[in-house]
Amino acid sequence: MESSNGDTIWDVLIIGGGPAGLAAALYSARALRSTLVLEREMPGGQIATTSEVEDYPGIAMTTGPELSLLMMQHAQKFGAEVSIGDEVVKVDFTKRPKEIYTSDGKTFRANAVIIATGAAPRTLGVPGEDALRGQGVSYCAVCDGPFFRDRPVAVVGGGDAAFDEGLYLTKYASKVIIIHRRDEFRAQKLLIDRARTNPKIEFLTSTVVEKVNGRGSVQSVTVRDLKSNEVYDLPLGGLFVYIGNIPNTGMFGDGIEVDENGYIRVDETMATGCPGVYVAGDVRKNPLKQVVTAAADGSIAALTADKYLDNLEAVMGPVHAERGAEEAVHWETAY
Ligand code: NAP
Repeated sequence: MESSNGDTIWDVLIIGGGPAGLAAALYSARALRSTLVLEREMPGGQIATTSEVEDYPGIAMTTGPELSLLMMQHAQKFGAEVSIGDEVVKVDFTKRPKEIYTSDGKTFRANAVIIATGAAPRTLGVPGEDALRGQGVSYCAVCDGPFFRDRPVAVVGGGDAAFDEGLYLTKYASKVIIIHRRDEFRAQKLLIDRARTNPKIEFLTSTVVEKVNGRGSVQSVTVRDLKSNEVYDLPLGGLFVYIGNIPNTGMFGDGIEVDENGYIRVDETMATGCPGVYVAGDVRKNPLKQVVTAAADGSIAALTADKYLDNLEAVMGPVHAERGAEEAVHWETAY
């Protein structure tokens, strides 16, 4: 079966190859549905650039890239195909089968779609941030941390990501200043305690970044103390921004209902208002965004899609080519 355009009609096409998409692929393939994952960059989504993962049950410690690879291989073992480098730019969910279009002009067709497009880092939106992106302003400590060996850096944010990645940066940087707009942090207590006892970490609370300064590289950031209103420059080699994420839903147009923050609305079965379209992971509104919750979403979305296809087949007859007996035996034994 080909994973590009052509006559193939996939049972389930999954947009996004992060933990939600790869878990959905595993469950969908194990349900014997022909399954394709389209991933624009590398498998793993946000965890592909996460240093240490120590809260996925059963795996005491791993790295984001390693866990991503394991998840992809697990889904592939059961027959899912993963296509890397296909960026979805538009969809037409009104067609039957549904159509999915990529930036390089391919069209994919599927009877059910699982949206697992995740979220992108939120930016500060201050002068200098965009111009110095990749020149000292970073949204990925794992990618860029090694460039800041023995230099002072700052991390903006007060959530788990800011603390996780701030701690990671202490491996390289001479000093890591966590700049947060409030006095209270929303990160887990365990991470806050670790940061507080790390001699390389300093805190600037009730403080916001107003400007990033430098030409070709970051020299300093201008910050404002929100209590005293004092504005001053902080000399730095790098600025890491970890202030949350924005859901990736641009390619879906009006076809999918989103809430006031852009997250896709779903019910507890991961179903959207659009028949045959399901959602998993950080692109939906959920109370906790973790690898384990994304993976759980993926499993639910895949099994809801499977039931939808069962119903579709009951009404319309088989919606996909039958698998050969030999392959079925292979799948039985793989389980
Ligand atoms: P988050 O939990 O939403 O935290 C975002 C932080 O950025 C908050 O402290 C927020 O401040 C601050 N912020 C937001 N907008 C800002 C702005 N414009 N200027 C300055 N500060 C701003 O996001 P996250 O840390 O990226 O984490 C996202 C999810 O992933 C969370 O559910 C988290 O638990 C999970 N995660 C988990 C781990 C882990 O368990 N190891 C690691 C990374 C992420 P306020 O507090 O004032 O709103």
